[in-house]
Amino acid sequence: MAEKPILIIGGGPAGLEAARSIADLGYQAVLVEKRERLGGTPDEAHYAKLTPDLRDAPKAMQEMIDPVTNNPNVKIHFGSTVTSASGSAGNFDVTIKNSKGSTTENVGAVIVATGFQHFDPGRETQQYGYYEHDDVLTLVDLEKMLTEHKVVRPSNGQPPKSLCFIQCVGSRDRQIGNEYCSKVCCGIASKGAIEVRQLLPDCKVYIFYIDMRMYGYWENEIYWPAQEKYKVNYVKGIVTEVVKKGDGLMIKGEDTTLGRPMEIPMDIVVLSVGMEPSAGTREMAKVFGLQLNKYNFIETTGGPLDTVTTTVEGVYACGASTGPADLEDSVSSAGLAAMKAISLVRKAAQAA
Ligand SMILES: Cc1cc2nc3c(=O)[nH]c(=O)nc-3n(C[C@H](O)[C@H](O)[C@H](O)COP(=O)(O)OP(=O)(O)OC[C@H]3O[C@@H](n4cnc5c(N)ncnc54)[C@H](O)[C@@H]3O)c2cc1C
Ligand code: SF4
Repeated sequence: MAEKPILIIGGGPAGLEAARSIADLGYQAVLVEKRERLGGTPDEAHYAKLTPDLRDAPKAMQEMIDPVTNNPNVKIHFGSTVTSASGSAGNFDVTIKNSKGSTTENVGAVIVATGFQHFDPGRETQQYGYYEHDDVLTLVDLEKMLTEHKVVRPSNGQPPKSLCFIQCVGSRDRQIGNEYCSKVCCGIASKGAIEVRQLLPDCKVYIFYIDMRMYGYWENEIYWPAQEKYKVNYVKGIVTEVVKKGDGLMIKGEDTTLGRPMEIPMDIVVLSVGMEPSAGTREMAKVFGLQLNKYNFIETTGGPLDTVTTTVEGVYACGASTGPADLEDSVSSAGLAAMKAISLVRKAAQAA
């Protein structure tokens, strides 16, 4: 008997890599994406350049999208999501719904790749005034400006003379329940700082951090160039408040290296918001009866040696649906999920 198709939910970097791998190996993939476009959060949030290699993000995403679109082994449902599922490993019936109606697909395995959403800085961190001050941005707002090669103060349209990043907004915070490190924001802020310095050489750029977490090669690829070549000022300190001062902003807090209070005027403040599970991740966990971890990301059961097997046999999860992940993590886990799903549908076909 022929192998059944594999359902992939989410057309971001992880879902695209899973679909491409399945199709390349000659198996059938059904890809369900709730937006009308593929490319996931990097596309939706207008990332400018990728960390760590400063590659053009839209181009890099297009290179992931092309092998999947018009591929005879991949059927894509745009503007759709999965609303119900029945059956078991090797034989699931899923209902896929879009604005025009619904359809059913019979699949052998499922890969959930529904990703993350950015932390909302209005939630319990009002002291940074994201919704009060025009010149307080998030990393995502800055990415959009960088895409347009135009970094200006939203309040007056002028280029900033000073800009700072505040790290760990919505991450490593026991009070709001996100105790985890979001993994990518130290690198992304440093990359953003380099881009701002390239675009506006007269703008002073600061990064206020608790710990600088640059893992692996990012240390040499971004952190040291940011300091040495682009003269970004890294300040180990805690910013407790952002207030309005004249027509600019003032950040208040403590420089923890010097052990003294600090107050620095700033034209733009960028909040390095972390990662939380997307609404789609939580919804798909409900549809398939998957267990979530304490942070509402999908629980995987294999520890570090198997990052994609969930609590439901035949359903795998990859990318940022299982926790904070960069592109490298997302694409690697997607490849593993594709292998596990293929192995399952092959065995099911042989047993039939
Ligand atoms: C500000 C910021 C900048 C970043 N920049 C970089 C960088 O430069 N380099 C790097 O390595 N990493 C970066 N990252 C991390 C990177 O964005 C993630 O690693 C990556 O997007 C995860 O891919 P994913 O496919 O798992 O999830 P996503 O990119 O979130 O994609 C999930 C997809 O699933 C879809 N979906 C969600 N729910 C449903 C549903 N119910 N039904 C159907 N479809 C659904 C979504 O529409 C989306 O297309 C950044 C993160 C942040 C916070
Ligand atoms: S990567 Fe950096 S900014 Fe992001 S949560 Fe971890 S320590 Fe904080």
